[in-house]
Amino acid sequence: MQPGIDLALRTEALESLLLERGLADTKTIETFIGIYETQVGPMNGAKVVAKAWTDPEYKARLLAEGTAAIAELGFKGPQGEHMVVLENTPAVHHVVVCTLCSCYPWPVLGLPPSWYKDSAYRSRVVREPRAVLAEWGTVLGDDVEVKVVDSSSEVRYFVLPERPAGTESLSEEELAALVTRDNMVGVTKVSTGVAAP
Ligand code: FE
Repeated sequence: MQPGIDLALRTEALESLLLERGLADTKTIETFIGIYETQVGPMNGAKVVAKAWTDPEYKARLLAEGTAAIAELGFKGPQGEHMVVLENTPAVHHVVVCTLCSCYPWPVLGLPPSWYKDSAYRSRVVREPRAVLAEWGTVLGDDVEVKVVDSSSEVRYFVLPERPAGTESLSEEELAALVTRDNMVGVTKVSTGVAAP
């Protein structure tokens, strides 16, 4: 599919066609959109991250068998049959892309944002990851190894971001509230909203 500004128009045309031919009904489409707007999205991934930060045994299971550990929290389904979790540390920073199209771990992140599907992101993050990350405000030192991982229909990557300093006293729920979609794709780091000293 050709990404671009006419995406909404194409979607609308496709939906009209499906309805007209009786291949889908409005209620089903609305239900699906509702599920991905309210029940399946980055809030699921944030819960996975917060649990991993607070439960070392869970973290070990998550890094060893991502799909199974994520399913322990009730998150599974289409586009999440084989999820692999990669840990970001002070030494290694992972960032996820799908160079071919827009493969993405739906059960934990919902539907991919438009920039993730954009051909500029898909090609540039592979060629010049540090420059792309810097544009997101993620400036990494030369001592940090940057690994760009390519999601596909076989494997959907999910980043376990670094737990920020100064969050020792926060509850799992409070920690989850800090984690954003972009942190779990790896384009940004988790921020506490408090400037570093
Ligand atoms: Fe893809």
